[in-house]
Amino acid sequence: MGTQVTYREVVKKRAEKGPLHARIDIPLPDHAASMISFLEDAGFEAWVVGGYIRDYFLKRETADVDLATNAVWPQVRDVAESHGARTFETGVKHGTITVVFPDCDPLEITTFRKEGYYSDSRHPDDVEFVNSVYEDLARRDFTINAMAYNPASGLLDPYGGYKDLRSKLIRVVGVAQERFREDALRILRAVRFSSTLGFEIEVFTFEAMMMNKWRLSNISVERITRELNQTLLGDHVHDALVDNVEVLSYVLPELVACKGFAQKTTYHIYDVLEHTAYAVQHAAPSLLVKWAALCHDLGKPGSAFFTPDGQEHFYGHSRLSAKIAQGMLRRFQFSDHFINDVSRLVALHDFKNLEPTRKSVKRMLRKLDGREDLFWALCELKEVDAKAHAPIAAKRFDRELTERIFQEILAEGEAFRISDLEIDGADLIDLGFETGPQIGFVLDCLLNAVIDGELENEHEVLLDAAELYLEED
Ligand code: ATP
Ligand code: MG
Repeated sequence: MGTQVTYREVVKKRAEKGPLHARIDIPLPDHAASMISFLEDAGFEAWVVGGYIRDYFLKRETADVDLATNAVWPQVRDVAESHGARTFETGVKHGTITVVFPDCDPLEITTFRKEGYYSDSRHPDDVEFVNSVYEDLARRDFTINAMAYNPASGLLDPYGGYKDLRSKLIRVVGVAQERFREDALRILRAVRFSSTLGFEIEVFTFEAMMMNKWRLSNISVERITRELNQTLLGDHVHDALVDNVEVLSYVLPELVACKGFAQKTTYHIYDVLEHTAYAVQHAAPSLLVKWAALCHDLGKPGSAFFTPDGQEHFYGHSRLSAKIAQGMLRRFQFSDHFINDVSRLVALHDFKNLEPTRKSVKRMLRKLDGREDLFWALCELKEVDAKAHAPIAAKRFDRELTERIFQEILAEGEAFRISDLEIDGADLIDLGFETGPQIGFVLDCLLNAVIDGELENEHEVLLDAAELYLEED
């Protein structure tokens, strides 16, 4: 064995090997190519870095171009503005300025930098600007995000990002323990990329994620929520949730009880975690349904019991899941509106409460305060839940028929909201009702009777019926 080599020296050595795949020609959007030339003409160096290069090799369209340069932000500003761009000081403390050419997507341009130690795992205590793109690449999180491209110089890939892209691997740049200690958010970024790209996490990287997950307690809620949202929207979210549940457990401890929680019923072939992960995977990319799918069965472990025939039951699990969802979503600082919508969907997801009949559809609409958007979302949730069951139960919810009935109800203007009734509060006051809660109560009863087909939605009919309530008093 030779003498010990510091990590810094290793990085330098690899960097000195020079550009890999130098002859690769990566097409750039015109405004990005122009900005690189403008900076070069002014005597600076500029590279496209990060996500754009990664996504180019993955053949994923992106308009999001990040540039790195040795110019400091006032110099970038002057160069950009002298060529007719507008600039925004979006993150100048960390060296980032946003440049917008007329009718073009914004460019984020950041001065080469390395990051200091993060004493709170959240913000670098100091940002040190450096003069080398290699050093700038060294501070980036994963090898696949640590490539740089310049039209004249070609591709710089000092950490084997291209190879890892080909092997579908997420691997930290440098020493994993250190990189997660600096910024624990990278732990969730790894999970996010595994979900969006369908990549495996390299074993040492994963080990360090586990050992450092506790540092997520230092990370701001907004940053965590952003990564979780993106994880849920990823095309490979099932695998990301199942493979990383022990990492995610630090921010989503509710999932732990689902892992290995077998459902001993005829309808299930997966444990609650797998079932949940499939439901999330099947859901269309809307955060409302994705979060509802994630939460819909969280109450199963808590509500389970066995009958003597050996069947397992989960009575009331929807309501418990809704409660757990509320607490969880509040922790992630979602809006009250979003929390209410998700927990309502979760509370109503159970298969028995929506039949493909007009009456049943209208009753459900009534429960949803006439919210059409929530009705569509509920249909989606019920379908993805059914699909994640054993094949015999996978068609338990007839979404197509239910939605067709819903559309007919809309087209025919049938009543399912108080405001759809051909009578209103003022009519009741004219009849002799006193203003107050009784009006709402009577309108509610009339709407239910209309939905159940006991009354026609006609002004005179409803007035007569209301009079009966007056007599009741
Ligand atoms: P996308 O924009 O598709 O979410 P991205 O890779 O562009 O993916 P950004 O968050 O825009 O991700 O970050 C741009 C680049 O900055 C990344 O590719 C990566 O090189 C680097 N980066 C971002 N966040 C971190 C971090 N927490 N630690 C280290 N490097 C980071
Ligand atoms: Mg980006």
